[in-house]
Amino acid sequence: MKSDQSTSSGNLVDPFGRRIEYLRLSVTDRCNLRCSYCLPKGFSDFDVPDEWLQFDEIVTLMQAFAGMGLKRIRLTGGEPLVRRGLPELVERLSGIEGIDDLSLSTNAVLLERHAETLHKAGVSRLNVSLDTLRGDRFKEITGGGRLDKVLAGLMAAKAAGFTPIKINMVALKGINDDEYEDMVEFCIEHGFTLRFIETMPVGSTGRWASRHYQNLEEVRAYLRRRLDLVPGVMPGGGPARYEQVVGTDLRIGFITPISRHFCDSCNRVRLSADGQLYLCLGQNARYDLRQVVRAGAGMDDLHVAITEALALKPQRHEFTDKPEQVVRFMSMTGG
Ligand code: SAM
Repeated sequence: MKSDQSTSSGNLVDPFGRRIEYLRLSVTDRCNLRCSYCLPKGFSDFDVPDEWLQFDEIVTLMQAFAGMGLKRIRLTGGEPLVRRGLPELVERLSGIEGIDDLSLSTNAVLLERHAETLHKAGVSRLNVSLDTLRGDRFKEITGGGRLDKVLAGLMAAKAAGFTPIKINMVALKGINDDEYEDMVEFCIEHGFTLRFIETMPVGSTGRWASRHYQNLEEVRAYLRRRLDLVPGVMPGGGPARYEQVVGTDLRIGFITPISRHFCDSCNRVRLSADGQLYLCLGQNARYDLRQVVRAGAGMDDLHVAITEALALKPQRHEFTDKPEQVVRFMSMTGG
């Protein structure tokens, strides 16, 4: 049921009454990996950097969002650590009034070098994508990536004091489905939180993703037979449903965009590196905020533009009904 709240400016509420508090900010569409479900092997047709928002433009836009009630920003990409000067941006974003949570999603390939600087600059929470603990398999899934670099990055993040560190493992039938328990052990050993994610059919890799789709209810049932699990909670846990492994600190989250979608409680939007505000990961609705900010819009005009954009937020994704609908890659939208 639509409400009329979407028309009131200065209020981050969408046409379905959902309050938007969370923005995923893609700082680049480039990535140093080619994960089979995300980017085709050898893909290099990225935006030219001139199209990316400059740091000043990003900060202005985030100030506008924060003025309307945005509370949390997650830096993502592509791979955010390939964007030059990222710590400077982090420092500027962490100083914005109203933003009380600044986090980062990374594949951790470059994290060893950057962990401490990023932590000092103001990133508090880290999500690291890691689908396997086997070097050969990692290379295969990521189109040539090196697992040892990721592990070194994770250890550097631990040493730098990030807490929590969440490991995001995309569950892939026939690819890494023999490693769920190994990943549990790894996360217990290092004090990480573990989240399993279902693949979504986006971009031209969508067919591959669908072929290896793993319903997480099956993973949960499998783990329940092997581990003592009780319902758990995770502050700021987003759409994941958590279980705690009894006798340990480990929480395991299940993110099920396909088998049990969570669109009713969706509280997020995504700003791509080239300044498009995407209202839903699984739909094509978007609003060009780059044009608005480059035209020199003041805060009031930005608030009007953001309100117009939010009015476009769809009720839900349609991955199941229209799996081929989203042609852009995840790295374009900001996963
Ligand atoms: N490079 C960073 C990283 O690796 O976390 C941030 C961007 S990446 C696109 C963000 C997340 O999206 C990763 O955890 C990745 O596994 C996930 N992802 C990409 N394509 C996906 C798909 N088709 N289905 C489910 N998750 C996907």
